[in-house]
Amino acid sequence: MSLLVVGSVAFDSVKTPFGQVDEVLGGSATYFSTAASYFTDVSLVAVIGEDFPETHVEFLSSRGIDLEGLSRVPGRTFRWRGEYSYQLNEAKTLETQLNVFQEFSPTLPASYQDAEFVFLANIDPDLQRDVLSQVKSPKLVACDTMNFWIEGKRDALIETLKAVDILIINDGEARELAQEVNLVKVAKKIITLGPKTLVIKQGEYGALMFTQHSIFAAPAYPLEEVFDPTGAGDSFAGGFMGYLSKCGAVNDTNIRQAVIYGSTMASINVQAFSLDQMRNLTQKDIENRYQAFKALTFFDHY
Ligand code: AMP
Repeated sequence: MSLLVVGSVAFDSVKTPFGQVDEVLGGSATYFSTAASYFTDVSLVAVIGEDFPETHVEFLSSRGIDLEGLSRVPGRTFRWRGEYSYQLNEAKTLETQLNVFQEFSPTLPASYQDAEFVFLANIDPDLQRDVLSQVKSPKLVACDTMNFWIEGKRDALIETLKAVDILIINDGEARELAQEVNLVKVAKKIITLGPKTLVIKQGEYGALMFTQHSIFAAPAYPLEEVFDPTGAGDSFAGGFMGYLSKCGAVNDTNIRQAVIYGSTMASINVQAFSLDQMRNLTQKDIENRYQAFKALTFFDHY
């Protein structure tokens, strides 16, 4: 089934303890759509400036991503600069330049309006709502956000959450959104805001999925080398939503499997800077990591 994403397409400048890159391909929608493209058909809504190289557009197109909703306008592309210390779980944002996103108010191509699965990747919550309002009858809507929007546009974000089925967010941001420390209390509070399912990403500690009646826990894959955590959250969301869209339905079993496919894509992505590790995967690469997750968590009948 078709999966639509709105979010940032960006130039990222990132420093980790293992190296540094300047103005490489990044953005929430870029990571998401690349990860999801291994599972399903993806349509992208975003904006780029005149400075965005054609080679990046060609890469997204080579992944089979529908780019009819990717507008190129006069001005500069969105830019984000961040830094990680040895505590790789949380990025410190040094600079956010919204640039062409400041004025972006897209009209969805007709073919996008029938999308059944929608992901509102990390971007201005007003833009998330604007895009969602143009989708005729979405079957499943999921969303991500970050402290930049929780602090800068809280009311708009709360409005967006009313129309969302699943919120996928990291632990620090979930705590900030709910204004609570304890994650069980955080989940209870966020579930009253709209999303009936909440996935809390905890970096190297994995992910927790809360619904009204259950909790599911997935570890992160214990990697020997993590180069760059940027995009881990969006790659997680891409694997998660891509798999659900491929299944075509959401039930207790496939939503748990989706958490593991999300963890699979995130664990692959962090092994290199930018999207480099996700550029040329085979289905076997993905399946091998998924099976490794299964072995990691299996404890019956030993
Ligand atoms: P994550 O998956 O959480 O590591 O997201 C990293 C991506 O989010 C980077 O590639 C950034 O370009 C993008 N990003 C950072 N800040 C923002 C923001 N305020 N709005 C939209 N995208 C952002």
